[in-house]
Amino acid sequence: MVKKLYNCLNCPAYCCSYALIPVTDFDLKRLAKHFGISVKTAERKYTKYGDAEYPRVLRHAADEHFKSACMFLDQETRRCTVYEGRPRICRDFPTQSRCGYYEFLKFERDVQDDRDWVATTN
Ligand code: SF4
Ligand code: SF4
Repeated sequence: MVKKLYNCLNCPAYCCSYALIPVTDFDLKRLAKHFGISVKTAERKYTKYGDAEYPRVLRHAADEHFKSACMFLDQETRRCTVYEGRPRICRDFPTQSRCGYYEFLKFERDVQDDRDWVATTN
Protein backbone atom coordinates (compact mmCIF):
# COMPACT_ATOMS: atom_id res chain seq x y z
CA MET A 1 0.00 0.00 0.00
CA VAL A 2 1.30 3.48 -0.95
CA LYS A 3 2.16 5.68 2.03
CA LYS A 4 0.09 8.86 2.02
CA LEU A 5 2.20 12.01 2.27
CA TYR A 6 -0.83 14.25 2.70
CA ASN A 7 -3.48 14.65 5.35
CA CYS A 8 -7.03 15.35 4.20
CA LEU A 9 -8.00 16.18 7.79
CA ASN A 10 -5.84 19.32 7.56
CA CYS A 11 -7.17 20.40 4.18
CA PRO A 12 -10.31 22.39 3.23
CA ALA A 13 -10.93 19.83 0.43
CA TYR A 14 -9.59 21.49 -2.68
CA CYS A 15 -10.33 18.32 -4.65
CA CYS A 16 -14.04 18.70 -3.90
CA SER A 17 -14.04 22.09 -5.62
CA TYR A 18 -13.35 20.62 -9.07
CA ALA A 19 -15.96 21.96 -11.45
CA LEU A 20 -16.50 18.56 -13.07
CA ILE A 21 -16.73 15.59 -10.72
CA PRO A 22 -17.86 12.75 -13.00
CA VAL A 23 -20.58 10.30 -11.98
CA THR A 24 -20.60 6.97 -13.84
CA ASP A 25 -23.62 4.70 -14.09
CA PHE A 26 -22.16 2.58 -11.30
CA ASP A 27 -21.51 5.69 -9.17
CA LEU A 28 -25.10 6.77 -9.67
CA LYS A 29 -26.46 3.38 -8.56
CA ARG A 30 -24.25 3.49 -5.47
CA LEU A 31 -25.38 7.02 -4.65
CA ALA A 32 -29.03 6.05 -5.08
CA LYS A 33 -28.54 3.03 -2.80
CA HIS A 34 -26.78 5.23 -0.24
CA PHE A 35 -29.85 7.46 -0.01
CA GLY A 36 -32.39 4.69 -0.52
CA ILE A 37 -33.92 6.38 -3.56
CA SER A 38 -34.32 5.51 -7.23
CA VAL A 39 -31.51 5.99 -9.72
CA LYS A 40 -33.63 8.46 -11.67
CA THR A 41 -34.31 10.54 -8.56
CA ALA A 42 -30.64 10.48 -7.56
CA GLU A 43 -29.64 11.60 -11.03
CA ARG A 44 -32.08 14.50 -10.95
CA LYS A 45 -31.28 15.62 -7.40
CA TYR A 46 -27.51 15.21 -7.29
CA THR A 47 -26.17 15.48 -10.82
CA LYS A 48 -26.23 17.83 -13.77
CA TYR A 49 -24.79 18.02 -17.29
CA GLY A 50 -21.03 18.67 -17.31
CA ASP A 51 -19.49 18.67 -20.76
CA ALA A 52 -18.91 16.35 -23.72
CA GLU A 53 -16.22 14.41 -21.86
CA TYR A 54 -18.07 14.22 -18.55
CA PRO A 55 -21.76 14.51 -19.39
CA ARG A 56 -22.93 13.66 -15.84
CA VAL A 57 -21.27 15.41 -12.89
CA LEU A 58 -22.12 16.14 -9.26
CA ARG A 59 -24.02 19.33 -8.56
CA HIS A 60 -22.21 22.13 -6.76
CA ALA A 61 -23.22 24.49 -3.97
CA ALA A 62 -21.89 27.83 -2.72
CA ASP A 63 -18.74 27.45 -0.65
CA GLU A 64 -16.95 29.51 1.97
CA HIS A 65 -13.47 29.10 0.49
CA PHE A 66 -14.01 28.33 -3.16
CA LYS A 67 -16.15 29.72 -5.93
CA SER A 68 -18.26 26.61 -5.37
CA ALA A 69 -17.78 23.00 -4.28
CA CYS A 70 -19.53 19.65 -4.43
CA MET A 71 -22.97 19.79 -2.84
CA PHE A 72 -21.97 16.95 -0.52
CA LEU A 73 -19.09 18.80 1.10
CA ASP A 74 -19.92 19.76 4.69
CA GLN A 75 -19.22 23.48 5.01
CA GLU A 76 -18.25 23.25 8.67
CA THR A 77 -16.22 20.07 8.91
CA ARG A 78 -14.93 20.20 5.31
CA ARG A 79 -15.67 16.48 5.08
CA CYS A 80 -17.66 14.39 2.62
CA THR A 81 -21.22 13.76 3.80
CA VAL A 82 -21.69 10.77 1.48
CA TYR A 83 -18.36 9.08 2.12
CA GLU A 84 -19.65 5.52 1.66
CA GLY A 85 -21.56 6.53 -1.44
CA ARG A 86 -19.01 8.84 -3.05
CA PRO A 87 -18.07 8.37 -6.74
CA ARG A 88 -15.09 6.36 -7.92
CA ILE A 89 -13.02 9.41 -8.77
CA CYS A 90 -13.28 10.66 -5.17
CA ARG A 91 -12.05 7.27 -3.96
CA ASP A 92 -9.06 7.25 -6.30
CA PHE A 93 -7.83 10.85 -5.98
CA PRO A 94 -4.97 11.77 -5.82
CA THR A 95 -3.87 8.33 -7.15
CA GLN A 96 -0.33 8.68 -5.78
CA SER A 97 1.48 9.22 -2.49
CA ARG A 98 1.48 13.02 -2.84
CA CYS A 99 -1.35 15.50 -3.34
CA GLY A 100 -0.34 18.66 -5.20
CA TYR A 101 -2.93 20.73 -3.37
CA TYR A 102 -1.65 19.58 -0.03
CA GLU A 103 2.00 20.27 -0.96
CA PHE A 104 1.01 23.81 -1.88
CA LEU A 105 -1.04 24.25 1.27
CA LYS A 106 1.76 22.95 3.50
CA PHE A 107 4.34 25.16 1.81
CA GLU A 108 2.25 28.33 2.18
CA ARG A 109 1.35 27.55 5.80
CA ASP A 110 5.04 27.11 6.61
CA VAL A 111 6.08 30.28 4.78
CA GLN A 112 3.30 32.34 6.34
CA ASP A 113 3.70 30.68 9.72
CA ASP A 114 -0.06 30.19 9.82
CA ARG A 115 -1.37 26.66 10.37
CA ASP A 116 -4.90 27.66 9.34
CA TRP A 117 -4.05 29.51 6.13
CA VAL A 118 -6.29 28.57 3.18
CA ALA A 119 -6.07 29.71 -0.44
CA THR A 120 -9.46 30.71 -1.80
CA THR A 121 -10.71 30.84 -5.35
CA ASN A 122 -13.59 33.24 -4.78
S1 SF4 B 1 -6.99 18.20 -1.94
FE1 SF4 B 1 -5.63 16.49 -1.39
S2 SF4 B 1 -5.24 16.72 0.80
FE2 SF4 B 1 -7.01 17.98 0.28
S3 SF4 B 1 -8.80 16.68 0.74
FE3 SF4 B 1 -8.28 16.43 -1.44
S4 SF4 B 1 -6.90 14.63 -1.52
FE4 SF4 B 1 -6.99 15.34 0.62
S1 SF4 C 1 -18.74 13.25 -3.17
FE1 SF4 C 1 -17.63 13.71 -1.30
S2 SF4 C 1 -15.46 13.34 -1.78
FE2 SF4 C 1 -16.58 13.49 -3.73
S3 SF4 C 1 -16.39 15.64 -4.34
FE3 SF4 C 1 -18.30 15.43 -3.18
S4 SF4 C 1 -17.79 15.95 -1.05
FE4 SF4 C 1 -15.87 15.53 -2.17
